Amino acid sequence: MEQIGFIGLGRMGLPMATNLLKQGYQLACFDVIEEQLNLAVENGGQRCSSVGEVVEKSDVIITMLPNSEIVKEVIAGDSDSILASAKAGQLVMDMSTVSPETTDHVAASCSDRGVEFVDAPVGRLASHADNGESLFMVGANDAGYARVLPLLEIMGSDIFHCGGYGAGTRTKLVNNFLAISYCQMNAEALALAERFGLGLDSTLDVLFGTTAVNGQMKIAWPAKVLNGDTAPGFTIDLAHKDLSLVVNAANTQRVSMPMAAAAREAFSLARARGFGGKDFSAMLDAHTELNGLDAPRLQPDSKYKPG
Ligand code: NAD
Repeated sequence: MEQIGFIGLGRMGLPMATNLLKQGYQLACFDVIEEQLNLAVENGGQRCSSVGEVVEKSDVIITMLPNSEIVKEVIAGDSDSILASAKAGQLVMDMSTVSPETTDHVAASCSDRGVEFVDAPVGRLASHADNGESLFMVGANDAGYARVLPLLEIMGSDIFHCGGYGAGTRTKLVNNFLAISYCQMNAEALALAERFGLGLDSTLDVLFGTTAVNGQMKIAWPAKVLNGDTAPGFTIDLAHKDLSLVVNAANTQRVSMPMAAAAREAFSLARARGFGGKDFSAMLDAHTELNGLDAPRLQPDSKYKPG
């Protein structure tokens, strides 16, 4: 069994470390907040007084830290960082949510020292981490992935190898864009429903029964635009009309809907560029074309290709 080091024992790191301890792993633990370190020690972790002490006692070092600056400092900083004392053959797995530049920087610094690097940011909520039910997006070479997989299988229930190092961090940003933007979309939708005097249960019944809760991505798009089919369906012109009805009704009712207004104007732009008659999933083609990108399409062997 490899010796594990765990740095950053906060809301996420503490339960993740505790789940490893429960499965019999030895954990060298460090956190700058004494109370957090005490909690890990109470759960069976070994107290370390510095990053360097963790590195000395570990084969695999996991970091679960607040932000990019701290991750850079702890992994590749000048004093008391992991790489200040790491040896070739050790592996660093950063599970924090950070910028792609940070991941690329620390990965390259590890590689220069013969230290393996894996980025494995975490999806889902803190309560999932408590129960060992997190989702992990992993960027790693095959050897690194094989080495961390037994640990990830203890800390989570769904593990996706997204590509080489950096792919985990980048997938996390794509995921969080949608997951977090939906909070604003949900807020606008339910504020409008409130202003209209609608019942919450009946509104949720309808929203959960249609593609409103991003069934577009899950159900509609694999069959339509991602499958190369942009024949309407429901046109961008009609979707623009509906979004205009929403924005105008909200304005009349003195409800602010910034995401709805931005989406309506994105549809306006697509219409101006000749996409009005296409299926509304072709917003993907309008947006990728505008950004000089290829339109994403499912490969023939994709599991998401409709049967
Ligand atoms: P947190 O603030 O609760 O925990 C971070 C821990 O890192 C703290 O205990 C802090 O003392 C410690 N720390 C800070 N600087 C340190 C240093 N130099 N050396 C050692 N320890 C240090 O944050 P969290 O909620 O556990 O989140 C950790 C990461 O996971 C973040 O990048 C966050 O974006 C991501 N994340 C959080 C959630 C969530 O629901 N909380 C979900 C998915 C991903």
